[in-house]
Amino acid sequence: MEEPRQRHQRIVLVPCPFQGHINPMLQLGSILHSKGFPITIAHTQFNFPNTLNHPNFNFLPIVDGFSNCNVSSVNFIDVISGFNSNCRAPLQELMAQMMEAKEYQDEITCIIYDEYMNFAEAVANYLKLPSIILSTSSATNALSFHTILQLQKDSHISTQDSMSVELVPELQPLRFKDLPISNFNNIEDLLQLIAKAHETRMSSAIILNTMNCLEQTSLVQLQQRCRVPLFTIGPFHKIAPATSSSLMEEDNSCIAWLDEQMRNSVIYVSLGSIASMKKKELAEMAWGLANSKQPFLWVVRPDQTDGSEWKESLPDGFKEAIGESGCIVKWVPQKEVLAHSAVGGFWSHCGWNSTLESICEGVPMICQPFFGDQRVHTRYLSQVWKIGMEWENNLGRGEIERAVRKLMVDREGEDMRQRAMELKEKIDVSMKEGGSSYNSLNELVDYILSL
Ligand code: UDP
Repeated sequence: MEEPRQRHQRIVLVPCPFQGHINPMLQLGSILHSKGFPITIAHTQFNFPNTLNHPNFNFLPIVDGFSNCNVSSVNFIDVISGFNSNCRAPLQELMAQMMEAKEYQDEITCIIYDEYMNFAEAVANYLKLPSIILSTSSATNALSFHTILQLQKDSHISTQDSMSVELVPELQPLRFKDLPISNFNNIEDLLQLIAKAHETRMSSAIILNTMNCLEQTSLVQLQQRCRVPLFTIGPFHKIAPATSSSLMEEDNSCIAWLDEQMRNSVIYVSLGSIASMKKKELAEMAWGLANSKQPFLWVVRPDQTDGSEWKESLPDGFKEAIGESGCIVKWVPQKEVLAHSAVGGFWSHCGWNSTLESICEGVPMICQPFFGDQRVHTRYLSQVWKIGMEWENNLGRGEIERAVRKLMVDREGEDMRQRAMELKEKIDVSMKEGGSSYNSLNELVDYILSL
């Protein structure tokens, strides 16, 4: 940890308040704090993190006008738009007070905001502060937004394209249906939100949680399209000192259960913090897992299916059928789980954090994307890195059973595991002195100091 810097170097971070966005932003905060920058987190009251887990940060609560609402792919865009409408004035007031307050020894150097929280950029512009964007997803996903906007300008994209299996010319191997606008209810609103953000952007740099060795081609193309420097400093969770920013309580009992299992024998199943499904689909998952005869650790969130209590969502007779061979919990310390030697595969929705956390431990995946960037990552996992098996939703128990065995028992799964380990090693090198992420982080620090 470097010495705290003198005046002029406090950084204000504005996360988007969903688990998959809070985690990388707070990890970035820890990384920059370890480089000597004092950190303030300006966070919506909605999903406000447990400040006790982050004693090194100051927190500013932003009044957002949202009481706790359930977020899904159906209302995701509306909720984000709501934050952008409601949060600008409160943040501006808080920041202005902060800049005038005598007790603050530091001046604010810049605001780093989640790419969805555009109101933070407006506040930065108003207060004449530099701002930097944090893109919490992959470079390929960021690139695909540029392509989508271009296609939209040329009238080459419509709602029907979200079903098309035709390849997107500049983004191969992505097909139209893999673009991150598919599976949202209100594509038009989403396109408007993206277009507005891209047209008005004045931020001076973009930070990405990825690595050159993973997304070199996309990064080169992205840099050609962005007029500002890109800092590629991932994987954040490996570089940041370990802390938890879970909004749900982590059930650590699963680690003791994993300790009892054989090396690489367990399939870990989690569909992230937002994806939800029908009770019938959950039942197929359950029986597919049981019939595969592989030990499994399964995260079933209480809100994962509609209208049932946690235990009620599982089919009758299932718990008795699996005995000790399955462990079902509401939420786990995922990074620790994926790093456990007993875990040999991950059945995931392929959110970017889960994807990175899995690759960084050399764990191959079954990819079941739901919406947004998850299809982009699924395609890369299966077609580019070749460490994931792609499947569609609504699979029956027989197909699930075969897929799980293919990943956990068959030669195909073993080959994917081998490739995943090779990628892990490349990522390890990128974080070490002289590696690409290591160098880019130093460049970012110099850049912030120069603002
Ligand atoms: N996560 C966790 N425990 C769980 C499930 C998920 O800590 O039981 C974390 C996971 O490590 C990741 C985040 O929640 O950092 C989910 O982010 P991701 O981008 O994968 O998906 P999202 O939830 O945004 O769809």
